[in-house]
Amino acid sequence: MSDALNQFCCDTLREVAAELPEPAEPTVYISEDGVLMMVVGIVQTEEGLGYMDHAVMHCPFCGTKLQDPEAIAEKVSH
Ligand SMILES: [Zn+2]
Repeated sequence: MSDALNQFCCDTLREVAAELPEPAEPTVYISEDGVLMMVVGIVQTEEGLGYMDHAVMHCPFCGTKLQDPEAIAEKVSH
């Protein structure tokens, strides 16, 4: 996880991903495909509560472009 955190653009995003206490995690996290994801909502399903997440394209704190859809599609398909 530390390698993934080093790619973050600013201390704010790094802290949010690394230091949020439970149960706030996993608000921002790295998926198994290596894509930076952010939870944008919680949904009620038949199995219980589930996270709605969304790939992060730009840092929500400083606006740096972090990922683009083509790169994400490439990671997920491999
Ligand atoms: Zn940032």
